[in-house]
Amino acid sequence: MNTKTTQQVEALLATPKKVVIVGHKNPDGDAIGSCMGLYYFLKALGHDAQVVMPNDYPTFLKWMPGNETICIYDKDRATGQQFFDAADLVFTLDFNALNRVGDLQEVLETCEAKFIMIDHHQAPETYAVATYSDVSMSSTSEMVYHFIDALGRLDTLSAEIATNLYTGIMTDTGSFRFSSTSPTTHRTIAQLLEAGANGTEIHNNIYDTNTPDRLKLLGVALKNMTILSAYNTAYITLTQKELDDHNFKKGDTEGFVNYSLSVLGIKFAVIFIENKQDNIVKISFRSKGTFSVNEFARAHYSGGGHTNAAGGKSDKNLDDTITEFISILSNYKNALNATT
Ligand code: 5GP
Ligand code: MN
Repeated sequence: MNTKTTQQVEALLATPKKVVIVGHKNPDGDAIGSCMGLYYFLKALGHDAQVVMPNDYPTFLKWMPGNETICIYDKDRATGQQFFDAADLVFTLDFNALNRVGDLQEVLETCEAKFIMIDHHQAPETYAVATYSDVSMSSTSEMVYHFIDALGRLDTLSAEIATNLYTGIMTDTGSFRFSSTSPTTHRTIAQLLEAGANGTEIHNNIYDTNTPDRLKLLGVALKNMTILSAYNTAYITLTQKELDDHNFKKGDTEGFVNYSLSVLGIKFAVIFIENKQDNIVKISFRSKGTFSVNEFARAHYSGGGHTNAAGGKSDKNLDDTITEFISILSNYKNALNATT
């Protein structure tokens, strides 16, 4: 975090404040981890902090320290609104555009508190009075560690902070394997282990809590995988019926898209998931190398994210979405056959 932003934040936190911390819709490990890590840090500094999430999140994140204090806005709108009405400061974490918070968007747009952004996605909006944005960072959780460091308060690192930040870094880096994992990321992880994070326990809590239904759904997804070798691309589809047949719960399809990316030679992997309730197809994109799925998702699927991981949606039905996707791909043949 640069000196100017550090000074801005120091001034805003100079006296005890009422703070709301908010993550993006469909919060993932990094959204929960960064928000809860910051929550414990601000409490240690003597501020009154509260985390609000737009909607619910998967069971495999529900063990994280302090998760029981989170207000889930779409389950309790009145309470959520009260937190924002009373807030002096709002931290927005792991997103940078107000359309990423679902029904909380209007609440944030009309909230009179001052905003601080901590985020690692591309193209940040300008709603915050202090913006700590860095697209080279592995995760927002890593940024929260650097934020605490910049404020000179690593002495406050507790097991609760460390466990939350470790979880966010681990989940956003695919367990420290994505190219965003830097030497600094590993040094940060070392500090978090020394502060009380238990890597083995965290890994078990996140990755070894599958239900049989979820693994069988993964089997269906892998059977449905199609390879388009001319484009070094692999895609997976899941219909609403396939989800229903496996008692689908939020988060069950997390990580499925990465299996296609593990096929030798594949540079671009996509999963299309039918959502009959919202009448959309939710899409996740992953890539290896320089092919930017962020740009691809922005250009064609009202989405965005990072160079190698992005999301979006289609309003067409599943079959038409696939047909359209294959026709769009033909415009990217050169990029997908480049050697980098
Ligand atoms: P996932 O595919 O796991 O849902 O998301 C991958 C990445 O893309 C995450 O960093 C997420 O924040 C971002 N992302 C997912 N869906 C959307 C979307 O609809 N819009 C934007 N701007 N980013 C998204
Ligand atoms: Mn993140």
